[in-house]
Amino acid sequence: MSETKRHSFGDMPADEFLDAGGSVLEFINGYFEQLEKLPVLARTGPGRLADELPTEAPEAGESFEAIIADVEKLILPAVTNWNHPNFHGLFSTSTSGPGILGETLSAAFDMKSMLWRTAPASTELEDVTLGWLRQMLGLPEAFEGIIYDTASVSTMHAIAAARERAGLNIRELGMSGRPDLPLLCIYASEHVHSSIDKACITLGLGTRSLRKIACNERFEMRAAELRRAIEEDVAAGHRPICVIPTIGTTSSTSVDPVGEIAEIAEEFGLWMHVDAAYAGPAAVLDEKRHFFAGWERADSIVLNPHKWLFTPFDLSAFYCRDMESLKAAFSLVPEYLRTSEQTTVKNGMDYGIQLGRRFRSLKLWFVLRYFGRRGIEARIREHCRLAELFASWIDESGDFELLAPVNFALVCFRACPAGVEGLDTFNERLMNHINATGEAYISHTKLAGKLALRVSIGSIRVEERHIEKLWQLLKNGVSESPAAGQAN
Ligand SMILES: *Cc1c(COP(=O)(O)O)cnc(C)c1O
Repeated sequence: MSETKRHSFGDMPADEFLDAGGSVLEFINGYFEQLEKLPVLARTGPGRLADELPTEAPEAGESFEAIIADVEKLILPAVTNWNHPNFHGLFSTSTSGPGILGETLSAAFDMKSMLWRTAPASTELEDVTLGWLRQMLGLPEAFEGIIYDTASVSTMHAIAAARERAGLNIRELGMSGRPDLPLLCIYASEHVHSSIDKACITLGLGTRSLRKIACNERFEMRAAELRRAIEEDVAAGHRPICVIPTIGTTSSTSVDPVGEIAEIAEEFGLWMHVDAAYAGPAAVLDEKRHFFAGWERADSIVLNPHKWLFTPFDLSAFYCRDMESLKAAFSLVPEYLRTSEQTTVKNGMDYGIQLGRRFRSLKLWFVLRYFGRRGIEARIREHCRLAELFASWIDESGDFELLAPVNFALVCFRACPAGVEGLDTFNERLMNHINATGEAYISHTKLAGKLALRVSIGSIRVEERHIEKLWQLLKNGVSESPAAGQAN
């Protein structure tokens, strides 16, 4: 690459772009191939990467080779490898090759999908792709879809639509300084994701409006408790507006009784928003459909293809029966965005707080086409099979016990070797020990007051041998532990 080219005015020259693009693809491919040799959790300390980087941007442009070399040397050691097949913490990510290539292409188009006119491809492909996905999930045609970045944002929009439908003219008058407004109430289980609390904060409802309903021993919302809470709030002059059952809670993937909750929502005129951010994609499997019974009665549903549908972050699919309420909450068309086809087309900007929106459907379209319905089913089914297999080993072992039903591909359990006092501390140490090896990453939660270890299985690269490796690490961790040693 000549100096003159590198410093020429305008974009990177075409021949250099091709060379550099090739080296990025080679880097990605090499990264995936050596992934299992890398530690799952980054072995870096806070501030270390920042200390290794210059404090100012370069004055003159640098060569692409120098940049990519620093990715290898400086960035990679600070990467926690979500794609590693032994990344079992939180929820595993499922990013795939076709998804990554789709993401790259959408960066190239760089369209801001606000109006149909600014992005016909994004507007229409989003509708078509979400239509395909809706059919795969077995949802009725009444659900229209829109893509947001994350489930947190999808749910915030659902609650905003519920608030709009309550007819309190909050869009115009706001909520502050209004003595005429009752307390607006939102209901969810005690295991609800923190994004619901954040949505209540953002929308000016406040966390006091969020009623967390008690769960049964399977961590499922008690419908009778929900009814009681709504009746109490109504009697106190409050105004229930929305209920959010979860299919696949973050802690344990428990499933709220959506059918019973739908009954109550319909009786009291509440918006029902189903949070299926993690588990939603499992609805493609016939054998898992029963967990989704009743979700077709929802006003809105969120699920994240960026969690378990082989699509790179970010892409959250939001389905809604009542797009008009969403539009009523957010549509606002300044003069410079007025177009002649305004009323006959869908304009993405009308359905949320963002004006410009990314061309996210492209990567999902790549994924759905490349793997096909059957390919997707087979992969999700395999993840569930591996989770059941892992759970069966725990069940058969005297040193471990399951702490929650395995509904999808997450296993919650703990080590409980005979004679060990203080199982919470013991399990926390076991987890930290495994994570420190770099061989695997697992996380934890609290279930019924007990510290539970969580193993999520969802990488597109995960195979039975990875689960076996983790099991070996856990068993070794227990037998090598001094606390367990004393018991023997
Ligand atoms: C992961 C998760 C979320 C949040 O997802 P983001 O896309 O990161 O906002 C919400 N709800 C549930 C049940 C989840 O598992």
